[in-house]
Amino acid sequence: MKWQGRRQSGNVRDARGERVSGSRGGIGTLLQVVVGIFGVKGLVALVAVGFIGWQLGLVDPAALLGSGGTRTVEYQASPEEERLLQFVAVVLADTEDIWSRQFNGFDRQYVEPELVIYRDRYPTGCGMGDARMGPFYCPADRKIYIDLGFYDDLAGQIGAPGDFAQAYVVAHEVAHHVQNLLGISEQVSAQRGQPDYNQYSVRLELQADFLAGVWAHHNRHYLDRGDIEEAVRAANQIGDDAIQSRSSGRVTPHAFTHGTSEQRMRWFRRGLESGRIADGDTFSKAYDAL
Ligand SMILES: [Zn+2]
Repeated sequence: MKWQGRRQSGNVRDARGERVSGSRGGIGTLLQVVVGIFGVKGLVALVAVGFIGWQLGLVDPAALLGSGGTRTVEYQASPEEERLLQFVAVVLADTEDIWSRQFNGFDRQYVEPELVIYRDRYPTGCGMGDARMGPFYCPADRKIYIDLGFYDDLAGQIGAPGDFAQAYVVAHEVAHHVQNLLGISEQVSAQRGQPDYNQYSVRLELQADFLAGVWAHHNRHYLDRGDIEEAVRAANQIGDDAIQSRSSGRVTPHAFTHGTSEQRMRWFRRGLESGRIADGDTFSKAYDAL
């Protein structure tokens, strides 16, 4: 993909130097110690002092709970990682241009998402982000979270190397943002708890692959030979059946939440050919026909 020298998005937030402060068991341990030494009265006193401290702005409860606070550390990235960050910023800028135009086409305003680059763990509007989860979009705070270390896995263990495979991953998460703005994600979350919720989730994922394809369609002039194959390979390798057979050695269809590799590739290609949001209705088709 031709990306060097192109516009980088201003919506990338580099949080690699921000570390989650406090350990998960921090406050629990503190309470046990206080009760052990001073009894329950001591605990009541501590809570009272803590409350006053919080009122005065001296105590940050989020930091104590280890859920909201971060501290800043010196972060030294390798030149390759810096290059990757710039690449991601160009891809994000591409998605902004393309989705703004698409939204304008039906008189809607595209609200650009923020993309947070973090390391290891990071508090998000959807709970604690963890690099092991891979890149994800949080509908509650409308942000995309990526630990760039995922790209090592993508090229290595997952077996989908190439810059366009990397770009596809960003485009897929941005697609979830597009679904959020269009109110589709909300309709799907309303089904949570229903017996067929998993099917709604698959439909949502396949549509995100379709929308990533729409993005690629409008980005064609920047593509190099082999780029589409890289993205298709990524869609193939991160299908639920592929992930499950890699991790457990067997495939269990009822646990699918993203769709099979074949489905994911097909919907990506469909978006690539069409370039139109309207052709990506994965919700009205029969589930077996997806
Ligand atoms: Zn997804």
